Parts: sequence; structure tokens; C-alpha cells
Amino acid sequence: MTFATLGLIEPLQRALDTLGYQTPTPVQAQAIPAVLASRDLMAAAQTGTGKTAAFAVPLLQLLTMEGPKVAANSARALILCPTRELAEQVHASVAEYAQNLPLTTYAVYGGVSINPQMMKLRKGVDVLVATPGRLIDLFRQNALKLNQLQTLVLDEADRMLDLGFSEELANIYRMLPKKRQTLLFSATFSDEIRTLAGQMLNDPLSIEVSPRNVAANTVKQWVVPVDKKRKPELFVHLMRKGRWKQVLVFAKTRNGVDALVDKLQGLGINADGIHGDKPQATRQRALDRFKSSDVQILVATDVAARGLDIEDLPLVVNFDLPIVAEDYIHRIGRTGRAGNTGEAISLVCADEVNMLSAIEMLTRQTLTRHMEQDFEPEHRVPDTDASGQVVKKPKKPKKPKASGGGGKRNLGKWVDSGEVAPAEPSIKPVRKVPVFNTGPRKKK
Ligand code: AMP
Repeated sequence: MTFATLGLIEPLQRALDTLGYQTPTPVQAQAIPAVLASRDLMAAAQTGTGKTAAFAVPLLQLLTMEGPKVAANSARALILCPTRELAEQVHASVAEYAQNLPLTTYAVYGGVSINPQMMKLRKGVDVLVATPGRLIDLFRQNALKLNQLQTLVLDEADRMLDLGFSEELANIYRMLPKKRQTLLFSATFSDEIRTLAGQMLNDPLSIEVSPRNVAANTVKQWVVPVDKKRKPELFVHLMRKGRWKQVLVFAKTRNGVDALVDKLQGLGINADGIHGDKPQATRQRALDRFKSSDVQILVATDVAARGLDIEDLPLVVNFDLPIVAEDYIHRIGRTGRAGNTGEAISLVCADEVNMLSAIEMLTRQTLTRHMEQDFEPEHRVPDTDASGQVVKKPKKPKKPKASGGGGKRNLGKWVDSGEVAPAEPSIKPVRKVPVFNTGPRKKK
């Protein structure tokens, strides 16, 4: 299959050719004809599957072929994204795809001055990429009208809800013309997303390009159990041992990001951090330097790292596991993109066992564990599996120290916890582990 057989016009084929896209990815093969046929779409596509082109390319074709010229302070297509970084990235892709077309594109987001954005919108833009909050501000200040809108795209819709944007989305929904095409993309589909889709979409075509909630199988994933306080030391040890060159590291909190960056920089390691407290320009500079390999280790919180596309990123490290299990899929989706292979390593302490279990349940796999010699945890991380159960070993009677090595069964070699001897009848699952994504989260 080629882009020509999907019915794309020559200027778009040429742009994709320039970018080195030879064959459509599965999501593109399904979405492009459907969007060109003006269908609404509900697409479950993992990050790194080529979903941006899947919606942007046919949308650009429709804008070129149909509809009036864009009016002042108007947009003909709106792409909503959860974060500023993602909005920038999506806009950069859209601009590349549109390079041979007579269309204008622009991105607006918060954290930067609104005035230049208002000026830019005066002439109207064909494709506007926006984060929800800033879009509403611009609308309320009459800098933007949406009555000319032909197509709405909700990109990473699950993340928008996770970030607490459901109220903003409801407001935006009221601002939209009734007659429009709506395309909803989400890596994962919760009941909340389905409800949103029910309100916003009209007889949508459902596309699912990979089994739901399953992480990319091009990413080799493993877990290293460790005590919480020894995580920084273990990270540095693994980094030196594995001669890591470019690593994206996820920490749970802003303070966690700063503390790890300080520690690494103190050791002379070339590291930088991004999180929501840092000004947009600083975040973008750190990201650009990481992409160009001027920075070796980039430590980030989930909100700052969402949707980032870093070419050939070989390794993602979860310094902390994410609180929302679905974020694990997004995090490891930063590597193994566009058919490349990648690796994702999670440093897991005893406190995080329920998160590990929720991740294994969501991704329907038991993650391989590797005990790192000299870092075996004093606080054991109980066994987990994809059923969502945490298995606590029954307490063994204490043996005298001389008999030694009772807890070192997995020492220094690869152990797939799925292959560990089956639980004896006396081993009971302690409780069913909840998935952590219930209810909206506070906006960061
Ligand atoms: P996305 O899922 O949209 O973030 O895309 C992931 C990466 O795949 C980006 O670097 C795209 O430039 C690249 N990509 C998208 N579609 C194709 C294609 N058909 N052939 C080769 N690379 C692609």
C-alpha cells in the first residue's frame, strides 16, 4: 500500500516523501480514507504509531479541497492537545505535512504571553493547534471565532481528562458549530473517554490498531527491585555499567526531578530536568538540547514529557513508577517508536508494589525482574503478576545466619517472575489491586 493508493493529493504525497515516509502505518492506512470520507473517528492508537499524520494529513487535504477561505480571527480546523510541548510538536508535524499547500497553521498554549497569539489570529489560520485553557481564553477575549470550524481533533484525549480538562472540554464543546467532523485519538480508552466520545462524535468509525492497553512490543521492559533510598545510587551504577548515552528518566514529582538532576550534575553527569514549574522557554531549551544530544540525561515529570517525539531514543527509565498505570504506556512509548526497538527499565521499591501490579494488570503482562548485585532490597518487593494480585510470601521461620542466603534466590541473574514456581496453597493473594486512574486528577 502507498500513500497514493489511499487517495492523497500530490502535494501531500511529495511532503511525506520528503520526510521519508514510504508506506502508511496501520493507523494511517485505516484513518486516512475514513477522514477523507468525512467520517467521525474514534481511534485507539499508541504513541509512536504515526497517529499525528493519520489525522493531520487527510485533514489538510479536506481543507485544501473544500470550504471557504479562512475568515479573520477564525480557524477551519482545531487540534486540541493536553500539553504545550505536545501542541508544539503536533504543530511542527502539521507544518511539515502542509509544506506544499496554500494553508496556514499555528499553535497556541498557556505559559506564554497571549498578545502575540491574538495578533497572529487576526488574519485567521487554517489549522490551529491549542491546549484547552488558552483556547478558551482566546475565545472569551474575542480573538477567535469557531463558527467556520470544519474539523475538531482531540489528540491524547485520555490525557486531557487525566489532567483535569473535562470542564474545559465541556466549555469548548458549547463553543463549536453543530455541523463538523470530529476525530478523537487516545492511547487508552476508559469509560470516561467513551462517554466523552458519545457526546462529541457522530456515528464514529472505531479504529484500533493494536490490542487495547498493550504497550508497544518493540520495547524490552524490565524491573529492578531496590530500596527507595538507594535508587539514585542504583541509577548511576546502571548508567555506568550500561554506558547509557541518551536516557529519558521519569520521576514522580517536581522535587524528585530537581533532586535527581542535582545529584547527577554533582557527579559531573550531563543532566537536565523538565517539569511544570519551569518556564516554557527553559523546558523547550532542555528538550532541544536533549534531542541534539547536548544533554545526556533528561529527567521529567509525566506532564512535561507527554507525547514527546525523540528520534531513536534507546532507553526510558522509570526512576519512580507512575501513579496512573496508563502513564506507564505513555512513558515507555517514548522509545521503540516507528518500528525501532527500545528498552524501558523501572526501578521499583516495596512502596510501589501496588503500582507495579496495576501496570502489569493493565498491560496484561508480568514484567521481567532483574536483581542487581549489591542492590538487593532489604524491603522485599512482593511478587506480582498480570492478574492484578500481589502475592506475599508466608513468613518463614528465622534460620540462623550461618545457613545464609535465604532471600537471594534471584541474585544477579534474570528472572521472569512469571516463571517463578507456582504459588503453594498456603500463599494467598492479599487483595485485588485497584487501577489508579479513577476520577479526574488535579490540574498541574
Ligand atoms: P506519532 O505517533 O505521530 O508521534 O509518530 C511517531 C513517529 O513516526 C514520528 O517521528 C513520525 O515522523 C514517524 N512516522 C509517522 N508516520 C510514518 C510513516 N508512514 N513512515 C515513517 N515514519 C513515520
